[in-house]
Amino acid sequence: MNLKQLALLICLFLFCSLVVVKPQTTTPPQTILIRAGRMFDSEKGVLLPPRDIIIKNNLIEAVGENLPVPAGARLIDLTRFTVLPGLIDAHTHLLYLEDPSDNPTMGGIKALTVEGTPLRALRGAARGRTFLMAGITTVRDLGNSGRFGDVALRKAINEGSVDGPRMYVSGPGLSPEGGQFPGLQPGYKQLAEEEYRVIHGPDDARQAVRENVTYGARLIKIYSNNTPNPGYLSMEEMKAIVDEAKLLKVKVAAHATDDTAVRRAAEAGVDSIEHGYEVKDETLALMKTRGVALVPTDLDEASLMRYFERSKSPAPPNPTSILQPLRDRLRRAMAAGVTIVAGSDNYIDFGMPQGQAAKHVLFAYREAGMKPAQILQSATINGGRLIGDERLGVIKAGAFADIIAIEGDPLQDFNAIEKVKFVMKDGKVYVEVPR
Ligand SMILES: [Zn+2]
Repeated sequence: MNLKQLALLICLFLFCSLVVVKPQTTTPPQTILIRAGRMFDSEKGVLLPPRDIIIKNNLIEAVGENLPVPAGARLIDLTRFTVLPGLIDAHTHLLYLEDPSDNPTMGGIKALTVEGTPLRALRGAARGRTFLMAGITTVRDLGNSGRFGDVALRKAINEGSVDGPRMYVSGPGLSPEGGQFPGLQPGYKQLAEEEYRVIHGPDDARQAVRENVTYGARLIKIYSNNTPNPGYLSMEEMKAIVDEAKLLKVKVAAHATDDTAVRRAAEAGVDSIEHGYEVKDETLALMKTRGVALVPTDLDEASLMRYFERSKSPAPPNPTSILQPLRDRLRRAMAAGVTIVAGSDNYIDFGMPQGQAAKHVLFAYREAGMKPAQILQSATINGGRLIGDERLGVIKAGAFADIIAIEGDPLQDFNAIEKVKFVMKDGKVYVEVPR
């Protein structure tokens, strides 16, 4: 036997042992029938009268009226409630929480040097659980998680070690010089390079996409501009990123705050603009033409007041006037026909469970004049489409069994969205209806 044959034999042996030790699944398929009092149809944006939903394992098998109870099925009575697809938050940072009284650069450096990735991931797991409890069953987690701490958390959730939302994670964000650590002395630039993947030219940009996807990212986060630092990625860098991301079949989310950053990212072909605070009408028209979604990470009045309170800085005389330009750009984006996807960007410690704080972004949209049905669509089907999986954000045959129930009619009184009474993710119940 020569060396090649021996190697082949070893491979064969290893393969066979893998087959033999593979655990046998002994649990029978689990069937659940949910009787819903009302059901939100996220595709049409309407509330439907009573509907029955049959779930087999982690998928929805059928939706209809007065369906017979399948043999051996567990019955869940949600006839007193409004049933919706699990909510999607398209912009989170589960591994980062900032004290509002802290300098943001110091907050970032503390997370890297004092907290460290393992502890950040553990704390991220605790935060992730609060999202699930609040009815947010899916998040896009967009960086600020050290070196792939987000990938570790996603693995732990997927294998069932910890309870949390479905995570689509980016790994480190691809940024111009200095990441988002303004004021850092040049001798310490490696600190920014621990938290961000700083890009040096188009070839390096391609390499960064390959790295992130190889080490577990399933989408790419870029900083078209890296506010509060002054940089912009070049057009060549962003085009290279989009091109490589397409090849590796991952989407690109672009942090872009001013109009120039938004326009350049949209021209480069990204899938979503995060923030877009100062976007102009002509750029919104470009986004509409290119099918680029807007994720408006806005604060509602209550969160803004809480921010001033907790940051120990005096609130300006008319604090809510700060929010007017954001509300105006959201209305302009809606008028331009740009798809709105809900995303909280909630990395501030508001002194309440993070998942609960994250839902406040939906009230910010309400305060800007979005209709409740549009807001619910932004937090369900629009998020699912942006992620690129048609099993997300809908209640229909073939979709993931991510289902929540709330008390009241959210189209009449949007506050109902806070009254989450039931949460199912992937066919597993995390919040049971009180008997
Ligand atoms: Zn963010």
